[in-house]
Amino acid sequence: MSEPDAAVMTERDGEPPTAGSPAANDPRGERQRFVLDDSGFDEVPKKYRRFYRKWRGPKDRLAPNEVICPVCKVVIRSSRTLLPGDRVYCMPCMSRLVVARNEATGELEAHVAY
Ligand SMILES: [Zn+2]
Repeated sequence: MSEPDAAVMTERDGEPPTAGSPAANDPRGERQRFVLDDSGFDEVPKKYRRFYRKWRGPKDRLAPNEVICPVCKVVIRSSRTLLPGDRVYCMPCMSRLVVARNEATGELEAHVAY
């Protein structure tokens, strides 16, 4: 059984995002799984802390399961590899985000979903 991933949201037409599993976007379970540990991020309830961490500046390296919220600069972490098109939710600033690949750098980045 895979546990729910609070940072990755599933979304149906016309409905607000709900906490879901990235398995919805990974039917064969091919994505690498990551073990998330609590980094002491205290801006969200304790059960969600491991899905977020603080950005430590330009020398910080994002893992394949991490993306930065463009609004509040918090690092959002998924229990699976993130891919372009994934929808993630930044709980600290309540932004709904879509993962995309930056053509210039090849790195993943998040854009606010309207
Ligand atoms: Zn945010």
